[in-house]
Amino acid sequence: MRSTKAMLTSDDSSPLILKLALPATLRQLFDYLPPENTPTSLLRPGIRLTVPFGHRKITGILVDTADHSDWPIEKLKYTGPIYDLDPVITVDILQLCRWAANYYHYSLGDTLSQALPTQLLQGYDLAQEAHICWRPHPKPDPSIVEQLHKSRASRQKATWEIMQAHANGAAEVALKVLGAETIILKKLEKKGLVETYTHVPKKRPFHSYDPILKTSELVLNHEQQQALESITSVSDQFNTTLLHGITGSGKTEVYLQAIHNTLKQQQQALVMVPEIGLTPQTLERFRSRFNVPVTVLHSGLNNRERLNGWLSAFHGEAGIIIGTRSSIFTPMPYLGLIIVDEEHDLSYKQQDSVRYSARDLAIYRGKLRNIPVVLGSATPSLESLYNARTHRYHYAKLTQRAGKAKPPRLELVDIRGKNLNAGLSEDVEEAIRETLERGEQALIFLNQRGYAPAMTCNECGHLMDCPHCDAHLTLHRTPPHLHCHHCDLQQPIPMQCPHCSSSRLTLVGQGTERSEEVLAQRFRDTQVLRIDRDSTRKKTALSEMLAVIHKGEPVILVGTQMLAKGHHFPKVTLVVILNADSGFFSADFRGPERIGQLLLQVAGRAGRSHRPGHVIIQTQFPENQQLQQLVIQGYDAFADSLLAQRQLLGLPPCGYMALIAAEATQSQTAHQFLGIHAHQAQQIINRQNLTGTSGVRILGPLPAAMEKRQGRYRALLFLHSASRGPLHGLLNQLIPTMESSKLARKVRWSIDVDPQEMG
Ligand code: ADP
Ligand code: ZN
Ligand code: ZN
Repeated sequence: MRSTKAMLTSDDSSPLILKLALPATLRQLFDYLPPENTPTSLLRPGIRLTVPFGHRKITGILVDTADHSDWPIEKLKYTGPIYDLDPVITVDILQLCRWAANYYHYSLGDTLSQALPTQLLQGYDLAQEAHICWRPHPKPDPSIVEQLHKSRASRQKATWEIMQAHANGAAEVALKVLGAETIILKKLEKKGLVETYTHVPKKRPFHSYDPILKTSELVLNHEQQQALESITSVSDQFNTTLLHGITGSGKTEVYLQAIHNTLKQQQQALVMVPEIGLTPQTLERFRSRFNVPVTVLHSGLNNRERLNGWLSAFHGEAGIIIGTRSSIFTPMPYLGLIIVDEEHDLSYKQQDSVRYSARDLAIYRGKLRNIPVVLGSATPSLESLYNARTHRYHYAKLTQRAGKAKPPRLELVDIRGKNLNAGLSEDVEEAIRETLERGEQALIFLNQRGYAPAMTCNECGHLMDCPHCDAHLTLHRTPPHLHCHHCDLQQPIPMQCPHCSSSRLTLVGQGTERSEEVLAQRFRDTQVLRIDRDSTRKKTALSEMLAVIHKGEPVILVGTQMLAKGHHFPKVTLVVILNADSGFFSADFRGPERIGQLLLQVAGRAGRSHRPGHVIIQTQFPENQQLQQLVIQGYDAFADSLLAQRQLLGLPPCGYMALIAAEATQSQTAHQFLGIHAHQAQQIINRQNLTGTSGVRILGPLPAAMEKRQGRYRALLFLHSASRGPLHGLLNQLIPTMESSKLARKVRWSIDVDPQEMG
């Protein structure tokens, strides 16, 4: 029977058990028996194997081997064949994923799924990556060579010349770039002049190119120099530097020079950027500075492109990887430096599946590899600032704009009782006019796409709401429809109120489309460019608009967050923030921090060249203390007072939090599920004496801020503690009871450690 076969595969008489991670939510490893007659030397952690799972065949990852299983051996199944000779999950990525699974309380299988390109998860065979290569025949017939020289076959002659220059052979793809053609190579092969062979790419020591620099470096100013030293002084040791530099202060230049140092030591650098922060200009700065392959990994790539990027890192070919959140899992055998740009950005936190923070994983990875980590931002997260203030991180500050630019002047404009035209006050219109007259550009920021965020009936007050969400429908003009931004429902614009049939329907508030329209009417001779998710849907649209902006003619830009990040618009000297208030009154305790960061990021677009910038922030609450502090004293004072508040309340980063969310088709099911587990959590707390100042407190269940979303009701349970240990201890005990709960079949629940958004 099976068990006797298994006995034979192991060195001694007890069978070897494979502990596999499978793409399943169950927080456990799965026991299998190895394929028959497999040498144990091939069973290395991190390789992929096919495994039977139910009626399906799926890809599993070997995590460990053991000589014991808690299951009877005869119940265990055999795996299918091994895919990889070389583990695709490298040692440090496996460690990183184990840590992440443990810390964020997800299954290792799900976590490993984040780490691999889709094609590898689907079982793609890397042996197919073998390159077809060509080399000159070692002993060609001299008469045939002579014949070729005399003949008129110019393409053959050209290809033969290329081959002569590659006596050791080269990949067909590389030869094609030089002008060789496959059919011609085949003709030469028939004549016995060249021969083909295959080459399986192998990891090789990363060689940085000589010279490493393509263009020379800028001379750093004193602050930049100090920042660089903080990063590079001990480059073979783990340390984290928070590089806090206002926009335009030359952070990127510091990154570039730190990377140069890394490349000189024949090591690779990983540069992380926010989801929409990677502009063509940024990429160009890296590519034009260094003579090494720079690989980009972001969500816009197709599966094949993503795999190619991953492979170039895996084989140690790429010198620099620039990527968004999931690139933290890229295997890099010679990793020597990790940079997280705009470290405060929300896109580093995954909001579904495994809710990890790529920034925090970057620090853990730096620790594993014993290399420096740099967190850069003009508006650091309170978490990172706190770590810098408590000396867990080095802190380097850039207070001056590099080059000639000066920081912009910030001004609050009180819009109470003022006549607004589509959200624009007269002051703002005047400022725009003056800017255009000086031949400069203006940028209008509002965080609302579409034409108007709500539509209402003047007769009965009925609001056009989404039937599936607790949200108003946004009216869009291009093309005309009502749109729910939460569940994507789209429906025609009604002519009459569905409630009272009145035709007196009006629009409430403004979105980018409406501002674009009004600005175009007011400034007839000026081009207005709208930049938001809708207007940039076509692949080339954004680059076309950027080209217009960079031509430098006076234009007005209207846009959302997409405009806030990374872009360098030398001609923009006026930035207008239509409304600064929403974040300060948010139910989320991070609201003020986020709005403060956003305001300064947007403001940072102003006056990045020699002309001074002016930022106008419209508000209905000009006496709001936090807003004043931000505008008058700046981010440091603002952040410090927010930190003091958090300290007082024990909120992150001065305390730890986990959020359990449940959603169900009935509101009460979600509440009931969380209610049961809140009760259980309280019992655990009481039993283990996790009370008092360092204990765990429970808040909820509460309805989520938007309770109904996509037709499901969401409820939340907050767990909160002054120290990490008790919180995680409680979660470890609570989760198994949640997994096995009968109600769990009726609810979707998730756990979010260090949540960044409060549901
Ligand atoms: P950040 O990344 O902080 O926004 P950048 O690195 O993009 O800042 O620098 C802003 C501008 O200043 C860029 O045009 C850059 O070329 C220039 N710059 C940066 N450092 C220096 C320097 N040391 N000397 C002169 N110009 C500099
Ligand atoms: Zn009505
Ligand atoms: Zn909806």
